[in-house]
Amino acid sequence: MFTLIELPYAPAALEPVISAQTLSFHHGKHLQTYVDNLNKLLSGSEFERLSLEEIVCKAPAGPVFNNAGQILNHNLYFTQFGPYTQAANAPEGPLAEQIRKQWGSFDTFKTEFESKGVGLFGSGWVWLSAQADGSLVITQEPNAGNPLAKGLKPLLTFDVWEHAYYLDCQNRRAAHLAALWQIVNWREVKARYL
Ligand code: MN
Repeated sequence: MFTLIELPYAPAALEPVISAQTLSFHHGKHLQTYVDNLNKLLSGSEFERLSLEEIVCKAPAGPVFNNAGQILNHNLYFTQFGPYTQAANAPEGPLAEQIRKQWGSFDTFKTEFESKGVGLFGSGWVWLSAQADGSLVITQEPNAGNPLAKGLKPLLTFDVWEHAYYLDCQNRRAAHLAALWQIVNWREVKARYL
């Protein structure tokens, strides 16, 4: 049985970037539904005792993959954020160095990441992941996709499903993605990289 993760911050902590109302629907309704759906689907199935990561790598396209993928993606998404800050918010250490090495600057990296999110047609996720040699890659995944299934280590993700931003930004996906940097908890993302 999978359960809904608890958020590591207060419901209004991400405002004004993500409102408490959006969080209550996104975490409390959308993610809860994926958890409930997967538990029903897994009952008596060959995937019943596997972890989310194992299911995402082994399940064929279909309801089990979709619901497990969405739970894993949202768990990584919600736990990568921290309280809103108006201060500069950027990674430090080896992850920051690798970003500078590959993109030249943090700002250039952010621009490419946002543009991959804006350019993803329909619903899905944009990801920063690490390869085995420590190099980084930005990828787009449609629907419930997770880079883990391609052998990558997922570090950071922006959800571009409309349910992630429609209450706060309506159709303005680009504005939503640009604002998300202010609530990224880079200590968490860095911990995933090392
Ligand atoms: Mn979502």
